[in-house]
Amino acid sequence: MRAPDIIMKKRDGLALSADEIRYMIQGMLSGEVPDYQVSAFCMAVFFQGMTPEETTALTLAMANSGRLIDLSAIRGVKVDKHSTGGVGDTTTLVLAPMVAAAGVPLAKMSGRGLGHTGGTIDKLESIPGFRVSLSERELVDQVNRIGLAVVGQTEDVAPADKQLYALRDVTGTVESIPLIASSIISKKLATGAEAIVLDVKVGSGAFMHELESARGLARAMVDIGRMAGRRMAALITDMNQPLGQAVGNSLEVIEAIDTLSGRSRGRLLELCFELGARMVVLGGACDDVGEARVLLRSLVESGAALAKLKEMVKAQGGDVSYIDDPGRIKVAPLSTLIRAPKDGYVCRADALTLGRAAAAMGAGRQRKTDSVDLGCGLRVLVSVGDGVEAGRPVAELFASSQSRLDEGTTEAISAFAYSDVPYQAPTLIYEAIEA
Ligand code: URA
Ligand code: CA
Repeated sequence: MRAPDIIMKKRDGLALSADEIRYMIQGMLSGEVPDYQVSAFCMAVFFQGMTPEETTALTLAMANSGRLIDLSAIRGVKVDKHSTGGVGDTTTLVLAPMVAAAGVPLAKMSGRGLGHTGGTIDKLESIPGFRVSLSERELVDQVNRIGLAVVGQTEDVAPADKQLYALRDVTGTVESIPLIASSIISKKLATGAEAIVLDVKVGSGAFMHELESARGLARAMVDIGRMAGRRMAALITDMNQPLGQAVGNSLEVIEAIDTLSGRSRGRLLELCFELGARMVVLGGACDDVGEARVLLRSLVESGAALAKLKEMVKAQGGDVSYIDDPGRIKVAPLSTLIRAPKDGYVCRADALTLGRAAAAMGAGRQRKTDSVDLGCGLRVLVSVGDGVEAGRPVAELFASSQSRLDEGTTEAISAFAYSDVPYQAPTLIYEAIEA
């Protein structure tokens, strides 16, 4: 096999065999296929696309390129979820304890992530003492004991994806559905998921800005997972405004605790019930989504979901007094309020702009080596569709220096717009692909 022939075949719109796809991925890893040929291959895929069979072969080649986490010693169906990422999106911290409390074991591997805020692993570090790295053995033992662990994803999972992503990032080939879908699902397969629930975001703060492309991505990922023998479900959800109130690491942890305890009830909790219900059904703890939703609500009401989070924090060395009293979690010392300039209705609380405001204050990282200011960020105090009077606070910002607070404030003010006439609240869940 020769790389130039494979590149030309894809360039001309023909479907590649699984062997040809494996040859490119293995050649990239061994160095036999140089970066310029891999880049040309990615560009050909960008323009010509891939069939579900090709995308599945690419996914399997990347999943099998590194360590495969063996969760077979954990009893029960191993269910995972993946969100394509957005702003103020703390779903893992709410969902994982909720679903574990319903009796579905969860061994969740999360990233630190690049973006407007850190990833789940950064967020968990705002709880003093919390250990995000467990050995495979510790992970399995903890999940068998308490039903739940959330840990960092190790570097040796799907190395082909890391190498390919680094090339895509600098060759204009990130925004390709088969390349995104294979990247995401390869990591899920390598980390032992038997069933996967996907939250595909659409809107200004998401990868996908149009419903049509979000639908294409969701469909591609569901197809790959099924062809690889996994049970799959997906929701397509709104990311035009932040999902929760908080955008920022510590602030999102505080919100997750308030949500699990039932003190905070909004879109974040509603979406967690919907995603969680699919996880509970795929995990075999309930027969249908309706029954699972009722179960999850009762676990929040009774305090069982919050108790599960405390069990996990304790097992991983974190100080549980911070869960009992989330007000102790450190937020940045300087704060300010943004207020509505006139009476009216909120018609825009733009996720991307609010994410940028949080990033401007130090909440995210641009390079993997950047550090994150855990305590900074903002709380959005209104939702699109809310009526407001002039002077009502619409957001509260937190930063560690006055210049960063000023920068964040200027950006955040531009996220909001108001209408004189009532404005309809947007849909939270656009579509579902059921198991
Ligand atoms: N997230 C991933 O993990 N991979 C992509 O290609 C895009 C988003
Ligand atoms: Ca996330």
